[in-house]
Amino acid sequence: MLITCPSGLKFEARPWTNRDRAALVDRGSTAGLKDTQKFMLMQACSDNTTREPKYFCIDPGPYGSVAGSSVDWDDVTLADITTALIEIRRVSIPEFSPDCNCTRCGALLSNLVLDLAEVLEDGSAAALGSTPARKEALEAIKNHTPVVLEPYPYITGEGRVEITFARGRDAEKIARIAEDPSYSSPLIQPLVHLAASISKLVLPDDTEVSATAGIVDVLIDETVDFVDTLKYVIDELEGGVDTVVRFTCDKCNSEQEMILPLGLKFFGLDPAESRRRYSGGSRVSRYLKKPGNA
Ligand SMILES: [Zn+2]
Repeated sequence: MLITCPSGLKFEARPWTNRDRAALVDRGSTAGLKDTQKFMLMQACSDNTTREPKYFCIDPGPYGSVAGSSVDWDDVTLADITTALIEIRRVSIPEFSPDCNCTRCGALLSNLVLDLAEVLEDGSAAALGSTPARKEALEAIKNHTPVVLEPYPYITGEGRVEITFARGRDAEKIARIAEDPSYSSPLIQPLVHLAASISKLVLPDDTEVSATAGIVDVLIDETVDFVDTLKYVIDELEGGVDTVVRFTCDKCNSEQEMILPLGLKFFGLDPAESRRRYSGGSRVSRYLKKPGNA
């Protein structure tokens, strides 16, 4: 299948197989999340049995890769990587039951089943249902220069934000910072991802902050509106799939949101998942002939 990313990167891939899933298990849990995403992208671009690269870059988009060569996933933005992973997963295993606890009553939402085709269709009419990156973002990605927001999105005339967009090589750093217990709240975790797309904040008092953890600390103490605005601006610039999932808790009926988790479970490493996906009966009846039908 042809995957088209928000940046214009195009490459061929195949769906994941049981052999890929076994290979992921064989690597052990110590490999970490960063390697998991890259590993599964490389699997989707390789021959299923020989593991040799088989599917190549069709259009390098803003990256240094060459058409006909393997994609350098370390250089690719996480917005592109997320879009590609969701598209490959949608073809491999269309429905996804993430582990998720209600933020209000704490119940495990055991019957939450997401249809990834719907997630992708939430976007625009672009190839994957994702929105394309803007021209300013493509130039910044290509030249490794920041897009500069000046002034701060919410303070007139003061401060500056330099956006460089998180890439594959940043995933390990993001995972490490996200594990910090002081950032464990589900409301703080998205700020870690947001901070990874920012290379520098110049605060209204001229203080400069460029370490990712330092930027997270600034964002935690900023207004909700500031962070929402910044997230909106960055999402608009780099495009991609809206991975915010809205659902209702079946225990306390409260409505809430979460970001689609692209952890180990996303790659199909949950033995109970297929049972849960099929337990509604609709999938089973779809494939069973009704008795008496000719
Ligand atoms: Zn609840």
